[in-house]
Amino acid sequence: MSKKEKVLDKKSKKAIEDIAMNGSINNSRKLNFDTSWQYAPAPESTDHFKLKKKYDLFINGKFVKPTDGKYYKTINPATTETLAEIAYGTDKDVDKAVKAARKAYNEVWSKLPRKEIAKYIYRIARLLQERSREFAVVETLNGGKPIRESRDIDIPLAAAHFFYNAGWADKLHYAFPGKSPQPLGVAGQVIPWNFPLLMAAWKIAPALATGNTVVIKPAETTPLTALLLAEVIQEAGLPDGVVNIVTGFGDTGAAIVNHPDVNKVAFTGSTKVGKIIQKALAGTEKKYTLELGGKAANIIFEDAPIDQAIEGVINGIFFNQGHVCCAGSRLLVQESVFKTVIKKLQDRIENLIVGDPMDKNTDIGAINSKMQLDKIKEYYEIGKSEGASSFQSSCNLPKKGFFFRPTLFWDVAQSHRVVQEEIFGPVLTIQTFRTVQEAIDKANNTAYGLSGGVWTDKGSKIFNVVNKIRAGVLWANTYNKFDPTSPFGGYKESGLGREGGLHGLTPYLKM
Ligand code: ADP
Repeated sequence: MSKKEKVLDKKSKKAIEDIAMNGSINNSRKLNFDTSWQYAPAPESTDHFKLKKKYDLFINGKFVKPTDGKYYKTINPATTETLAEIAYGTDKDVDKAVKAARKAYNEVWSKLPRKEIAKYIYRIARLLQERSREFAVVETLNGGKPIRESRDIDIPLAAAHFFYNAGWADKLHYAFPGKSPQPLGVAGQVIPWNFPLLMAAWKIAPALATGNTVVIKPAETTPLTALLLAEVIQEAGLPDGVVNIVTGFGDTGAAIVNHPDVNKVAFTGSTKVGKIIQKALAGTEKKYTLELGGKAANIIFEDAPIDQAIEGVINGIFFNQGHVCCAGSRLLVQESVFKTVIKKLQDRIENLIVGDPMDKNTDIGAINSKMQLDKIKEYYEIGKSEGASSFQSSCNLPKKGFFFRPTLFWDVAQSHRVVQEEIFGPVLTIQTFRTVQEAIDKANNTAYGLSGGVWTDKGSKIFNVVNKIRAGVLWANTYNKFDPTSPFGGYKESGLGREGGLHGLTPYLKM
């Protein structure tokens, strides 16, 4: 027990004695110390699995060494310790992977009865569920997100995407009545680091269910769960070459996107890279979907259930350390409730537990990389230099690893960079509005159009506002709710195309 905990324990004991004797805590003492109790550490264990020292590329059903023999280290961002060495795939490796995917498509996958395809995808889903504890721990170790989130959201949702898409595999003619849906061939996919396994599932599950084969590249900082998924794919007995996983950096991704024998590109990542990909694909026959950045407005009207809205705003911006493209990173509050909201938000932020992602009580874990932490710190300085008022949690941050305090900015204008640009961290900007129209105008005054939230007691107001906000996903009196049956995607600089639901199948089909 630490010294601090001992002191707290003594104080709590005294407080309990007071309650027993007087029915309440002695008032003078109540003002002088914090009687709130601290959670004891509740770390998830890591003794139920063993990572390999080195991971090779997964091509044609086997783990193979990279052509150039290069590896890089992947770390735990909460401690900066190395977890494993990862193969750095080059364009030669990508070429091998695309050839394997093409052969698998021509010779096996496109010839299988559709219900056989469904069985393979179901198997992947079930194996993910069986190994879910291992997947959750590895996701948290490699990415820095709280174990509670990887355990309760990332891994179950990834399995759900495989289950959902498996269901469609032999029913495509019902999904698209009167049409004759056909696969495209080889899908080349590139994914980011914020939801490593979930993004792999979003990409691989619909591609397989529609009869395509896959070459996918996980993000450089978070390759481990994709490589565990390669093991699952082997265990599920998928024919060789149907799914190929090539690890590496941006150039590896570019090699997939630009490979002439790839029929469809699916990318999730930054708007900057999305634009490069869109330019590269212009004039080719490749189909593509781009799921890019966001700067979503979360709008609280004065008639909203405020405490519920506060929880939604906290979840909207601090879920996954704010590394979420659809994060509610701009809060718009009706002027009459601004003071109440900002006070409640500050109180709530003070109670968020920031620290060890492996602890089951942690609310905010580690920032994914040093590069991302530097970017967030830079935006913090930009916000202050632009004249914003700010508030940060007073919590202690771990000495090692990459951490950032949950942060609020207010007194900001629409033109401020912290209001306009995607920070991708635990930083919320707060603006006020007076009329419904002003809220809509401010919400739409962004280059992005991915998501948004509305908090109000009035159903009519919900329908009015959400219909006027140009964003792909809008939540009402909730935030950050995901479901494999529901399409997700953006407008404007947030990208194009939809993933999830029936809409998510069409980009993988010609009809
Ligand atoms: P972030 O800023 O969130 O890291 P990026 O867009 O840089 O997002 O990265 C998302 C994914 O895109 C990663 O897997 C990365 O390796 C890959 N990537 C980066 N540059 C390119 C590129 N020019 N072409 C294809 N993929 C790329």
